[in-house]
This record gives sequence, C-alpha cells and structure tokens, in this order.
Amino acid sequence: MQYSATKASTSSATSQTDVSSMGYVRDEEFWFKKGDCVVIVENTMLKIHLSDLERDGSVFADMFSLPNGDDSPNTTTEADPLILPDKLHEFRALCWMLYASPLELEEQHNPALFKFSTVFHLLSICHKYHFETYEKWAGRLLIKHCAHDKGKDTYLDNQPFSELENMLRISVRINLYQFTDAIERSVLRKLQERPSLSVANALNLAEELGLRRFQGRLYYHEFTRQPVLRIKSSTAYAFPPGDLTPAQTMALLRGSFSLSEYWMNLPSVIQYIKVPQTRSCAKKGNSHADCQAHWEAYWSPQSLKQVLTTPSFSFGTFEPGVSRPRHPGPLEGLDTLQDSFRLAPTISVPFSRLGLSCCRRAISMLIEQLHDTLADHFLGPLTDNE
Ligand SMILES: [Zn+2]
Repeated sequence: MQYSATKASTSSATSQTDVSSMGYVRDEEFWFKKGDCVVIVENTMLKIHLSDLERDGSVFADMFSLPNGDDSPNTTTEADPLILPDKLHEFRALCWMLYASPLELEEQHNPALFKFSTVFHLLSICHKYHFETYEKWAGRLLIKHCAHDKGKDTYLDNQPFSELENMLRISVRINLYQFTDAIERSVLRKLQERPSLSVANALNLAEELGLRRFQGRLYYHEFTRQPVLRIKSSTAYAFPPGDLTPAQTMALLRGSFSLSEYWMNLPSVIQYIKVPQTRSCAKKGNSHADCQAHWEAYWSPQSLKQVLTTPSFSFGTFEPGVSRPRHPGPLEGLDTLQDSFRLAPTISVPFSRLGLSCCRRAISMLIEQLHDTLADHFLGPLTDNE
C-alpha cells in the first residue's frame, strides 16, 4: 500500500505545546471543537470525527481497530495526532465530501456549480484510502462533465499542461478510461493551440503509462502538424526539425509511410466493403442493394479518374521556397469525403438521398476504424504477447 500513517510521537506524554511548536497550524474550516480525531497533513492540523473517517469501508476503519500499542497509529488527540503523508488539498477534498450538505453534493451535477478540482482531488484520495462508493461517485461526475466526444472541455482545457499530466497519471492508475480519453483529447488540443509545447514530452508520458492509443494520436498530430519545407536548389524536402528521440523519429517515419500507403490504396480497398444500412434507409423500404451498387460504382476504376480530381484526393499547391502546412492527413481527407456525400458526390453516380446517408455511414465506419488502428501505423500492429 502506498499510504502509511505515523504518530507525531511514541510517547503519550507529548504535550500540546510540543506539537504547536513544531509549526503546525489549525485548519480554518475543518477544525471541529467536538471532533475526536486530530490529523496532521503537511503543516496543517485538522480536527474531525473518527466515525466519518471510518465510513464507506475505508482503510481508516481497520487502522483504528488495531490494538493501541506503540507502533499502531490509533491515537488521535492534539497531543498525539495522526500524521498522514498526503497532500493537504487532497485531504481537504475528502473532508469536504464528509461534511458537505446533501444540497451541495446534489449541486455537483450542475455544470455551473461543479467543483472540478475538488472532485478530482477527492477521486485520488478516495482511491488511496478505499472510500469505494465515494470514488465511484467522483469518477462518474468527472466523466459526466468532461468526457465529451467533440469540442472544447471547459474544465480540462483550463488546466496547465503539467496538471493534465498529473491527472493522466492518476486517471490511468484508477482505470477511469473515459476520463483518461478526455484528458488525452485536452492535451492534443493544447498541443494544437500552442506549437511551442513539446510533443516529445507528451509522447514520453504516453509511453511510460503504456497508452498506445494516445501515442498514435500524438504521432498523428506530429505527422499533420509539421510544415513542409522545400530545400532551395534541390528537388529534396527538408526533414522537419523536432525534439523526438531517434526511436520516436523512426516511429513517425514509419507512420508517415504507412498512412500515405493507406491513403493511396484506399479507393481500391474500400470498393467492396459492405455498406451499412442506415435506419432511415431500412424504414423507408429503400432498396439497400442500390446503395451498395452505387458505392461500388463510385469507387470503380472507371470513375476513379474523376474521384482522383476531387479536392480530398488532389495534389496540394505549393509556393516555391515557402513552408506550408502539410497535406491534410487521411482523417481530415475522410472528413472531407464524408462532407462531399452530404449533398451529392462530385461524379455522376445516381445516388438517392438515402443512398447518400448509407455511404456517409460507410465513411464514418472507415474513420472509426482508422482511429482505432492509428497507433498501428506508427508502432506496428500488436503482437499476440502485447
Ligand atoms: Zn441503404
């Protein structure tokens, strides 16, 4: 276990003056005169109630049921307090939970009143001391308020990069997958907004925590972010500078190659995929076989000449000597393609409105598939042992 508790002194004769002279201050909020449990965290003394600390099957219940020998931490007076090796803000978050009114707890479901930091600190300390249902409650709230699929995240995006790193570590330790995913997306938004931030640092963290999917996302970010710079007086292009390690650079190159191949081979590979039927197509009694036929016709070699001139497949324009952003990556290309199926594709294959919706669904499927396997492009596919 990571936690350990120590007594301020092994002698029950230690006086209050001794403890005060050690420089501890009383917590202004969590100091209850009738409390029966004095705890010291960092340089602060808190006087709370033992019965509260023992709630929810926490480890404190076991801790205080130990016989009161010299080595057991079950004295809790001001003269002989329980010293915990916690961070004060986390322990105060626990106290907040123990003493909050039902109304205050209920308010946490309201985004305008949600105490993001407090609930996050609560999650961490509840995990440590096995307040099981409190941990679940905090986790669900964080997922409810933060784990949105798209767009900005008010709570996470306002955190500094270092705090997001810290949150990621804790979220991974607790196996809070949806929250981990939300933090990863917030890190990526930060990297997009501030190109001066180091992708290598984020990659190192993803490697350390074994977050393969996150590594894929970070490499993809780097793949699409790097500007393309042509070397004057040569047909060659400069290799983008960066602070990646040699192994990370190799992974980036492998991914660039693999994604280029994916994109170039996509038309022939997807021609015969099974187009999923949308609910509206099924409901209206449409002939879904027509959707499939139109999709296959769209990607047939005969029509590919036209497809290849659509914006999503075209060559980029280039101004000599000027660095410009890289071509959009395959994910952006698929987004553009999906949009082109919103009204009518650029070639004259006779799609019905419902046929278009089924084809859009097929492209969604491809996007999802590419997201799921993004890391494979950079890191190679998983072997059976991984
Ligand atoms: Zn259909």
